[in-house]
Amino acid sequence: MSRMTGRHFLQIPGPTNVPERILHALSRSTIDHRGAEFSELCLEVLEGCKRIFQTQAPVLVFPASGTGAWEAALVNTLSAGDKVLMFETGHFATLWRDVAVRLGIEVDFVPGDWRHGVDPAVVEEKLVGDINHRYKSVMVVHNETSTGVTSRVREIRQAMNRAKHPALLMVDTISSLGSIDYRHGQWEVDVTVGCSQKGLMLPPGLGFNAVSAKALEVSKSAKLPKSYWQWQPMIDMNQKGFFPYTPATNLLFGLRESIRILEEEGLQNVFARHDRLAEATRRAVQAWGLDILCADPREYSSSLTAVMMPDGYSADAFRKVVLDRFNMSLGNGLGKVADRVFRVGHLGDFNDLMLAGTLAGVEMGLSLAGIPIKRGGVAAALEYLESANDTGFKQQLPGKAGGCCLKKP
Ligand SMILES: *Cc1c(COP(=O)(O)O)cnc(C)c1O
Repeated sequence: MSRMTGRHFLQIPGPTNVPERILHALSRSTIDHRGAEFSELCLEVLEGCKRIFQTQAPVLVFPASGTGAWEAALVNTLSAGDKVLMFETGHFATLWRDVAVRLGIEVDFVPGDWRHGVDPAVVEEKLVGDINHRYKSVMVVHNETSTGVTSRVREIRQAMNRAKHPALLMVDTISSLGSIDYRHGQWEVDVTVGCSQKGLMLPPGLGFNAVSAKALEVSKSAKLPKSYWQWQPMIDMNQKGFFPYTPATNLLFGLRESIRILEEEGLQNVFARHDRLAEATRRAVQAWGLDILCADPREYSSSLTAVMMPDGYSADAFRKVVLDRFNMSLGNGLGKVADRVFRVGHLGDFNDLMLAGTLAGVEMGLSLAGIPIKRGGVAAALEYLESANDTGFKQQLPGKAGGCCLKKP
């Protein structure tokens, strides 16, 4: 393969683009993880994580992928034979279900069409019907990365409270944390699962569990075997700024920088930026005459958009055209929607012109691949981005400069 010039566009919905500041932070010399400098780093990072998860509860950081953090959530709260309620929102919900099943958990997996999120009314109905309180946990993927559908976690918690059911609420926020508003504390979530390589703009390698007081209490009698993932020794050591085993020190340098970057912009501004870039993307897709996989506008994802190919066209062949010709990686269809959708990631360290370049590559690729579309998607997105200051974007962007470039006659 000949050299591709310019920067690669990594527009998959995670791993995301790692900003220079984080790359520099990662490249420091590793320090003694039992020394005072580490302890300071650890305490600062763990406090910062609480603000990112929007909670006062402890956030535990494992050297792991997101899948490890899924397992940690399960083995600390459940015992073999326990029953949990899960929803088939897409590929990641299915994978988390598989982890639970392999651990000996009985999963009631409510089928789904991969175009909708978790229906709070179904949560309520299921829990009200569970008079013997067999469900120990309700497990939800907040942002289904395979479909671009965001479930309404606040409403799910409200449904659980109406049903007065004691089950824990466990939520995977792997592709929403730091991109889409999510409140572990206010929404009374018991265990929140996250990881480093999506909205936090870090390389892969850190997995998170935010743990409520109720989940911690439940963990004292949970009997699934565990060693590496045990919460209590981690919490005990973390209080002094240390880990029970060698931490991913350099990724923690990176995480400290990631938290600083997010807070310099302001979390609410970060969310608004993602909302705005997502809306621009959808306008492009609609102008092309293609369908968005997410069928309910209340559940549109702000971190990625999954686009359906017209019948008879291969999404993977299209993605290959875009990669070979424009040096851009788009997300593939996973599981049930393999080869039928492509996914545009618009999360992390991302701005208007990066989105414009991304959508230009998609539009040219669709045309080159012979997909029947209408042109004008990029133009529709640009028009929205120009005007979006007037349509609820919370961060004040410089608006129209009204004739400032006109030379005086
Ligand atoms: C990426 C992702 C995962 C998997 O995380 P790994 O780091 O690959 O183990 C799980 N859930 C969601 C929603 C994801 O987007």
